Amino acid sequence: MPNSPLRLKIGQIGEPVLRQQARPLSAEEILSRDIQDLIEYMRETLRDAAGVGLAAPQVGQPLQLAVIEDSAVPQSIPVSAEELAAQERVPVLFHVIVNPEILAYSEETVTFYEGCLSVAGFTAKVERARSVQVACLDHRGEPRVIAARGWYARILQHEIDHLHGRLYLDRMDCRSFSTLDNYKRFRGDRVLAPPAA
Ligand code: ZN
Repeated sequence: MPNSPLRLKIGQIGEPVLRQQARPLSAEEILSRDIQDLIEYMRETLRDAAGVGLAAPQVGQPLQLAVIEDSAVPQSIPVSAEELAAQERVPVLFHVIVNPEILAYSEETVTFYEGCLSVAGFTAKVERARSVQVACLDHRGEPRVIAARGWYARILQHEIDHLHGRLYLDRMDCRSFSTLDNYKRFRGDRVLAPPAA
């Protein structure tokens, strides 16, 4: 199959842009042809990679913009229906967040394996707030406040980290770090259980 002309290259760990602070966009910039095109390219790239979120620095653009879409169908990391329910993973329609700011984190945290399109082939357990409230602009530059819980809250925290040069590697339980192949082979928790705290 020919490559989609809209597909962007996803940078891998070690690319300096992944460690940069991204810059905010003005509402006027968001409406520009360049940014509207970037959003469309990022949507196609995200779908092609079967991911649930993609931040502009991952495609080489140090801008505070990310796209999110989760069909809640297990893809790169195999999960059972039971695990899916535990993760509170529900479908999230495609949308864009620009200049996001986390206004509030729940005190309650949850720990699950997550992955990153810029750390391809690996996964690790990451503890994150179970719910968050996020202020941002949307794809038209209009202000939005998002209240998210479960896996969607995790996606938001992961993407917003990208916009500040942070990766899940900075937050992971190091002893759970695994190749995806080994995660599938050993089913994560049973063999790669982290030390209980
Ligand atoms: Zn990522």
